[in-house]
Amino acid sequence: MNSELNNIPHKRYNILTGEWILVSPHRTKRPWQGKTEENKSHKKETYDPSCYLCPGNTRASGETNPDYKEPYSFINDFSSLLPDSPEINFQEGLLKAESERGICKVVCFSPDHSHTLPLMEVEDITRVVQTWKKEYLELGAEEDINYVQIFENKGAIMGCSNPHPHGQIWSQSSIPTEILKKSSKFREYWEQHKKSILSDYLEQELEAGERILDENEHFVSLIPYWAVWPFEAMIIPKRHLQHIGQLNEAEEEAYAEIIKKLTIKYDNLFETFFPYSSGIHQIPTDGKDYPEWHFHMSFYPPLLRSATVKKFMVGYEMFAGPQRDITAEQAAARLNDLSPIHYSLQ
Ligand SMILES: [Zn+2]
Repeated sequence: MNSELNNIPHKRYNILTGEWILVSPHRTKRPWQGKTEENKSHKKETYDPSCYLCPGNTRASGETNPDYKEPYSFINDFSSLLPDSPEINFQEGLLKAESERGICKVVCFSPDHSHTLPLMEVEDITRVVQTWKKEYLELGAEEDINYVQIFENKGAIMGCSNPHPHGQIWSQSSIPTEILKKSSKFREYWEQHKKSILSDYLEQELEAGERILDENEHFVSLIPYWAVWPFEAMIIPKRHLQHIGQLNEAEEEAYAEIIKKLTIKYDNLFETFFPYSSGIHQIPTDGKDYPEWHFHMSFYPPLLRSATVKKFMVGYEMFAGPQRDITAEQAAARLNDLSPIHYSLQ
């Protein structure tokens, strides 16, 4: 990389969205003040009688969870989208609205209330990957469902009130904005080069090495060059796959393994249960071909300098565009310096 960029304000281009991010590395000349939380034990009960996600408990809807032993998914009792909304197309002068149909589900990753992805065994995370895959294929096959968003909000700071390990899946009739942006960039590159832009990007990143976090036979995790969040990361399959439904058995396990390793590093950074929003971007399920698409998973963690200092998207970022202080290379170096063993087990 051009090393001058480490010292001067500059902007970086996101090849997947076509947007720019402002980087101000000269503001981080002060020494790293990372601090850790006082309470390191985080000992939690494996079962919480008041948790609506624990096996055997009754939810607000009155339904009772089965005594599940593996990942368990169900329709969200407070779904943001409904499958049977009436079709409405409203336009009055400059006011425009359309109805949106969808199905929202919750996926419990484990029956164990005290678990989180970094503390789960690779084979148990593999079962979560298999559940995501099944849900993507099943929901995507529904006539009215043209896009399936799999995501996890982890930690109270990300608006997640229940510590039971779980994620969500929102599936809907229209294709959302972020996917439309990425589709157009994937297509643009495909038409010019007949290759996936992420395959070429991965090749360049593996050669450079400075933003790589981890690599196994089938997946790579890295801090993207254009990262917005301080420790934002991406997991990319080496094979040019359009969606997780195409993963073979070995890839499912390799995917689970790289998720575990990344989330352990995250927890070790501030010795806390590191909050983030993570999500999988893959092709729409509208029955069309998207050969240009390359599925990937992104992690957007809000923490900046400690377990309590959060990055805020305010001021310039609200009005102009995203900005960061530590560079993607510095973030990768910090994570790479940490132990691969979870701090609670050391
Ligand atoms: Zn629970």
